Amino acid sequence: MLLPRHRAMTLFRSLPLTLLLGSAAPALANLDSAQEEPDRVTPIINELETDESVEEVEQSTLRGEPVAPPEIGTLTTGPAERTAAELTTPGSQSPADLAANPVAQIPDESLAIVMEALPSPQPAAPLSLLGSEVLPGSSARLAWSPGIQIPGLSQPTPVLAVNGIHAGPTLCLTGAIHGDELNGIEIVRRTIYDLDPEELSGRVIGVPIVNLPGFQQGSRYLPDRRDLNRHFPGSPDGSLADRIAHSLFENVIRQCDMLVDIHTGSLKRTNLPQLRADMNNPDVATFTQGFDRMAVVHSSGSSGMLRSAAVAAGIVAVTLEAGESHRIQEHQIEAGVNSLTSLMEKQGMTSRMFVWGEPEPVYYDSDWIRAQHGGILFSEVDLGAHVSEGEVLGYVADPITNAQYPIRAHSNGRVIGMAVDQVVMAGFAAYHIGTEAEIPAE
Ligand SMILES: [Zn+2]
Repeated sequence: MLLPRHRAMTLFRSLPLTLLLGSAAPALANLDSAQEEPDRVTPIINELETDESVEEVEQSTLRGEPVAPPEIGTLTTGPAERTAAELTTPGSQSPADLAANPVAQIPDESLAIVMEALPSPQPAAPLSLLGSEVLPGSSARLAWSPGIQIPGLSQPTPVLAVNGIHAGPTLCLTGAIHGDELNGIEIVRRTIYDLDPEELSGRVIGVPIVNLPGFQQGSRYLPDRRDLNRHFPGSPDGSLADRIAHSLFENVIRQCDMLVDIHTGSLKRTNLPQLRADMNNPDVATFTQGFDRMAVVHSSGSSGMLRSAAVAAGIVAVTLEAGESHRIQEHQIEAGVNSLTSLMEKQGMTSRMFVWGEPEPVYYDSDWIRAQHGGILFSEVDLGAHVSEGEVLGYVADPITNAQYPIRAHSNGRVIGMAVDQVVMAGFAAYHIGTEAEIPAE
């Protein structure tokens, strides 16, 4: 059944999350209780060691001068550009395309000039994914199973695929690689269900909940307590995490031209909506230009992270961070959906007359400021605030002695991530301050 586009959108948007999540739905209902019972068995210090939000960014340095991303509208690399080049190949219009676009048959010289200037969309091929074939102009709900469970009890992970009527690049969206990061699940759902395959050029493949076991337990980790985002591209005969990573990478990720892996802050830290991107890589730097109203934080990425493995495999990839774990945050979700909408427009996959906001800065330098004392953290600044060197960001109060220890900014910058008020120990990374470095003139 074909619904008018606006009706279809309303319908999809009003669908309860449980419909999409299928068998995973009962876990959602339990999220509140899961939130009350964090993984008590894991000492906090262990989680910090594997916290990508802190360590991965801290260890990132630029090689030489920062790569200046090109101006908007001058995309010169990346899959969309390759596709656009194919689209303009003369004489490659198929009869089906001509039928769909009858204006091309009118032998009018001025029209012919226009047609030459505007690449006419090419019909898409069927998408072969996970043993199924998704026809052009259709969408499907598929299942990925990493094959690590008891076969009779195996619970496949839903994969949503939209194959546009026109040829184009393949964009992949992954959420909840850390099972307690919920905003990404909703960002993937809204983005995918907002697409009309009849108007899409290319393909969008979404895995809303990669770490289904972690999601069901409200846990960041896999059942073996490993961080899945340290095991890509994985291996078929390694640990549980290696095998899951390998299966996802081979069966889904290798299909992608572009990947956006969606995360949130960890351990009661929240992030301004931002991209983590290796700005040393010119293709990745160019790719970041497609995301509307999204700050970019340079980060080379760690070994085993999905985005690092994807880039190594020739897939342009970034991490999108939005908000904090264990929560569904409307504002952060809207920012993520808006940015993915702009990305698809930028890549020529959709045409919705997207209205761009002011470009956001690139933070080539960022620094985590840690609490020097244990106690209760009270913040004086808000996420996104611009701060000056020496400014008090918050206090750690000792609940026994009444001592109060200020935490100050080390430099001028912007609060791009921060801990929510909580009990902290000495060494806890409390404020992430981004510094906009000078981009050398061309
Ligand atoms: Zn994460």
